[in-house]
Amino acid sequence: MNATTTATAPQQAVRVNCDRCGVRALSLAILPDGGELAFCGHHGRAHHDGLAAAGAQLIPLP
Ligand SMILES: [Zn+2]
Repeated sequence: MNATTTATAPQQAVRVNCDRCGVRALSLAILPDGGELAFCGHHGRAHHDGLAAAGAQLIPLP
């Protein structure tokens, strides 16, 4: 049995981790004041409504 293989991405320009839990982020929230927050799938969903209400732009990461 193979353990989780740590696949090294060939050329990943940006590597972002969730600001809440530290796992790989799947979305980036651009705040109206210029701030940026990164969220994993779980926290992205959890905070989506609040971010949208605050006028943040949510950008999916590759
Ligand atoms: Zn998270």
